[in-house]
Amino acid sequence: MFLLVCSIYPAFGDYVEPTLQEQQLYNSLLADFTKLNVQKTDVSKVLESFSAPITMSFPCDTNDLNSNVTAAIKTKLAKFDNTLGHEGTTTGGIYSWKCSITSSDGKITINCENELMLNSDAILASTERNPTINQIENLVILYHELLHGQLMIDAISSSDAWHDNACNKTPQDDLDYSYTDANHKVITPLQTEFATQLIKNAGGEMKIETITPEETNSGAFTKKIGSLYDYPNYVKSGVNVSARAYNIINMQIISQKTDIMLSGVLSNMTQSGIVWLYVFLRLWKYR
Ligand SMILES: [Zn+2]
Repeated sequence: MFLLVCSIYPAFGDYVEPTLQEQQLYNSLLADFTKLNVQKTDVSKVLESFSAPITMSFPCDTNDLNSNVTAAIKTKLAKFDNTLGHEGTTTGGIYSWKCSITSSDGKITINCENELMLNSDAILASTERNPTINQIENLVILYHELLHGQLMIDAISSSDAWHDNACNKTPQDDLDYSYTDANHKVITPLQTEFATQLIKNAGGEMKIETITPEETNSGAFTKKIGSLYDYPNYVKSGVNVSARAYNIINMQIISQKTDIMLSGVLSNMTQSGIVWLYVFLRLWKYR
């Protein structure tokens, strides 16, 4: 499942132009994304960095190693690189921070030529049958990747801790990339909130279920995740529940009388499985 999987690398590979398909997918997602009327973290700086470098500059304290730091950050859409993905999972997108540091007379210059990659083959091959859900999931991928850029730009622009750290770097040192949120501590709740609002605006409801390894029998589980009575407005016309799972294989949603049951097997038994459930009226036409 690619939605919650993403890779982020401080890397120095050569830039490769995106394919036409990738460029068109990005253009169309971006057009929809900028029209959205939902509360979300402001990602305008990273979006600006696609057209012109974002430049930031700050002075250091007198006892720091350096006197001043200047950063310039650009982002380009690049061809998706399959070798950067996780093993055994499909990666929807990648945001790479590619920075070089130079120093002269105590002045540090950071130059970042970042790359956004979208796995258009995987995104366009999604098995999600509801086009509304499909598009929302794609927008979540875009938002997610943009956050890997924006959160770090925010740190460079206004984090005292990051400023202090950068002010004491030599050109041999690595930058502190922790604010890119590679482990998704910040991004996961933001993208969940984002997806929840989009599903709600589309007339559905989103629920998140977590299945811990302790709830399973050697990884296998069957769990009641709700009742049709939880959705009184929907019951007359019928409910359609579909889902996205992370770290779960063979997932099935079954209605047993009025119960909605979820079954499956954890693919990695040391981690919890996460399921995004989408509940909609049976209104859409299948493609
Ligand atoms: Zn990510």
